[in-house]
Amino acid sequence: MRDIDCKTFQDKVDELLVRHRSILDVLSKFQESNARVNRSVVKAVTNCGCINITASKKDLPPDIDLEQMKNFMETHLQGKLCDSCKEIIEMELGNNLFYLVSLCNLLNLDLSEILKKEYGKISILGKFNLS
Ligand SMILES: [Zn+2]
Repeated sequence: MRDIDCKTFQDKVDELLVRHRSILDVLSKFQESNARVNRSVVKAVTNCGCINITASKKDLPPDIDLEQMKNFMETHLQGKLCDSCKEIIEMELGNNLFYLVSLCNLLNLDLSEILKKEYGKISILGKFNLS
């Protein structure tokens, strides 16, 4: 399949968004789809077991700078998604994107412009000011 640009995706979502056209439907479906993304990751841990989460408080050396901090930070993830879990999580993320773009469409927001602004912001701020 060819790469898809933001405008093509936004136009397709607009074409398909008939049933849940109300902003109330889109907001609640967007939130629901986000919860389903999180649940699919949790199920990869608790039902499948292809990934594990191990977390504990991290004690950082007192004089550490932000550049050195990345050497001490962890993802708390072990393992690798199996094909089945990967497929499910990708499907849930795709559904979440659908409602994100639906929200953009209803509010006349250009996803490409949002990406550009965010890219510019993170490029200027770098890793030091993200929270
Ligand atoms: Zn799995």
